Amino acid sequence: MDAFAKDMTSVLYGNPHSGSSPSQLSSSRIDQVRVRLLDFFKADPDQYDLVFVANATAGVKLVVEGMRSLPGGYVFAYHQACHTSVIGAREEAHQSVCLDNTGVRSLLDGEDPFKPTTSGTPARLFAYSAQSHMDGRRYPLSWAKELKKMEAQSSSRTLTLLDAASLSATSQLDLSDPQFAADFVVSSLYKIFGFPDLGVLIVRRSAEFVFDQRRYFGGGTVDVVLCGDEQWHAPKSYSLHERLEDGTLPFHNIIAADIAISIHQRLFGSMDQISAHTAYLSRELCRGLHSLRHANGIPVCHIYSETPDDAAPIETGPVVSFNIRDSRGLWIGLAEFEKLAILRKMHVRVGGVCSPAGLASALDLQPWEMKRNLSAGIRCGEDSGRFTNKPTGIIRASLGAMNTKSDVSRFLAFVQEFFVEEEVRALTQFSPTRAVDATTNIQVKTITVYPIKSCSGYTIPSGVRWEVRPEGLAWDREWCLVHRGSGQALSQKRYPRMALLQPLLLFGDNVLRVKYRGSTPKGQPTQVDIPLSSDPSHFDIDFRQTSSRVCGENISAQSYRSKDINDFFTNSLGVPCMLARFPAGGRGASSRQSKARIQKHQRTEKTHSGQPSPFPGVPSPPDSDSEQQSQPGKILLSNESPILMISTSSVEMLNQTIMETGESPVDESVFRANIVVEASPGQRSRPAYSEDMWRRISIGNYSFKLLGACQRCQMVCVDQTTGERRQEPFVTLAKTRRLNGKVYFGTHMQHEQLRQSEELDGLWPTIQVGDAVVVQEEEVEEEDGEKTPGAGSPDAIF
Ligand SMILES: *Cc1c(COP(=O)(O)O)cnc(C)c1O
Repeated sequence: MDAFAKDMTSVLYGNPHSGSSPSQLSSSRIDQVRVRLLDFFKADPDQYDLVFVANATAGVKLVVEGMRSLPGGYVFAYHQACHTSVIGAREEAHQSVCLDNTGVRSLLDGEDPFKPTTSGTPARLFAYSAQSHMDGRRYPLSWAKELKKMEAQSSSRTLTLLDAASLSATSQLDLSDPQFAADFVVSSLYKIFGFPDLGVLIVRRSAEFVFDQRRYFGGGTVDVVLCGDEQWHAPKSYSLHERLEDGTLPFHNIIAADIAISIHQRLFGSMDQISAHTAYLSRELCRGLHSLRHANGIPVCHIYSETPDDAAPIETGPVVSFNIRDSRGLWIGLAEFEKLAILRKMHVRVGGVCSPAGLASALDLQPWEMKRNLSAGIRCGEDSGRFTNKPTGIIRASLGAMNTKSDVSRFLAFVQEFFVEEEVRALTQFSPTRAVDATTNIQVKTITVYPIKSCSGYTIPSGVRWEVRPEGLAWDREWCLVHRGSGQALSQKRYPRMALLQPLLLFGDNVLRVKYRGSTPKGQPTQVDIPLSSDPSHFDIDFRQTSSRVCGENISAQSYRSKDINDFFTNSLGVPCMLARFPAGGRGASSRQSKARIQKHQRTEKTHSGQPSPFPGVPSPPDSDSEQQSQPGKILLSNESPILMISTSSVEMLNQTIMETGESPVDESVFRANIVVEASPGQRSRPAYSEDMWRRISIGNYSFKLLGACQRCQMVCVDQTTGERRQEPFVTLAKTRRLNGKVYFGTHMQHEQLRQSEELDGLWPTIQVGDAVVVQEEEVEEEDGEKTPGAGSPDAIF
């Protein structure tokens, strides 16, 4: 990058299509880089031409453009390990087939995979990957040669497209090899050098005819264009790349590629050295993952890649793909793995990794299963094992030239830390320890509302009675900030600085005042006032109904048009956004419903005990007897439920565990609860996590129904005072409060109207700090209630 910056600041390069000297300089530099890159792949310029493209995908698309313009069109066969970008080429073909290794063998032996056609003779294209980007497996470069040999005796001619994007990243792609016979090769330079973002299409000169009838032409690719009565153009005739490189070349990028080749050579030596280094690393990684075992001896990782062999390291590239199981043999969800990997700064890819056919084969996924996963919102395999205990994607760790041995050991330590069960954990451990003093008196410690979703909270002063509405505490999550570009409601998860936006409810002035606690440039306002009244006619405030997305849900909110208000938030956060309001009482997309529910781990085994599921591994229908599911309450912009409660004893217990690891404790504000409960003065605390088992409580005179444990994400890692991210408490929560892939802390609840009179007097219930909290109904384990379901029981699956 330094060398590139130096070149850019000392030399003036112009658009290559003109005669000025900066332009000429670019042209000659491009010609030079083209030859240098051909040389990099050991391709003889007499035999091959190199076309600059945006990425490997754009190279494939150019080949498709050529093939489809041939008089009879084309038919297309592709190998199962192909990348999505290559498979897309089938949509322009008259016919296409996906071949596994046996299918390719038959093709090479002269078997025709295509149905006979009646109209014309289409050209044939066969595409495969030199190395699978899913599991690193390599496929013979000799396939194209074999195909040509076989076809020498017949009349048909198949062109071969080799996708070398994965292979060339860490190995020498050698086009001078006498076995090499592919007609088109695509690759991405950023996968080799890291920078620039550029791809190449290398075309064997004998296959150039494919582009002769390409229809589109762009600037730079033609000599003459007539636009009068006679519409005619003369394509540039000298070289193929001149005819295919439409418009201005990314000339600065191409110059950067020149520099990248030199620096790469200086840093890493030859591609063969990189290949040896990465093969060693991936062998270590594979062996390490293979050796991980749970306490009961069950392997932790199921590895799809083959371990590179000492004797023949060429068979597999440095790509290790796997899935993880727990000690009961159940698959760990990909989303769960990814959250923890992000937290520990491990850059891995999870999901379908753009390898649809390879994935389906590795995971034995049937088409109906993939469609079902899609309709359930699992795209590209982002979550796994929801329906059956079957993964929907993979975890892929790729190694490159810059990786070191310590990267591998750090990754192994990470898997060990979170996924290896050193003692087999029974589910009972998750429920609170039942103590005799379970009747300890408790009370409300603090009440907090968060008027603007994801911004700081407003703490209700003690002595003030606060209204409880059906949707939650009054003024809680009524506003949100919406990204101007994407329409998404902003969240602290991505924009931790939102914690520095401090709202104050000033009823005397009838405004919501928001102060920004971070630093602001001079002259920029540090606070803004927003009228509390939701009636726009009372104020000089203009609303516009806009659609937006909150937690993946489409909603319709009233966005503010005021420049002052929107500028304040935009400037404070450095994100183009606007304020929107979502008042209660809306319908359709202007309303939202609670999603909280009692989790399986919070229930004692009433429904399932004694009657094994008739379909092990298949979900049972939602409990129809659960009233809370038949009647979800309304909510405003909170994630899941009207009210979130936590207890100080659970926070203390968690902090004790965090401190045992040498980390500093977290403040209870990170959990962004509405209500915090604590032991009443002079009383001993309730056992930590006893709130998991509560079903109904009263606060003061009012009754509340508990709706289930709150699922947590990395957002609990944002320090609410500084807006900075830490690793705790999520790391410790993930180790101690993770069940079936979800991490839980705190509980959802809503006010429950028990007596008609509460409504009749027209007043909302109110609560205040110091109110007594009484647990009225609690899930109690039966005397013999052994809560240790074995593998395969429905409880273990979800
Ligand atoms: C990355 C990759 C691609 C796509 O490359 P782009 O440069 O993103 O278009 C295609 N095939 C394989 C094997 C890859 O690894």
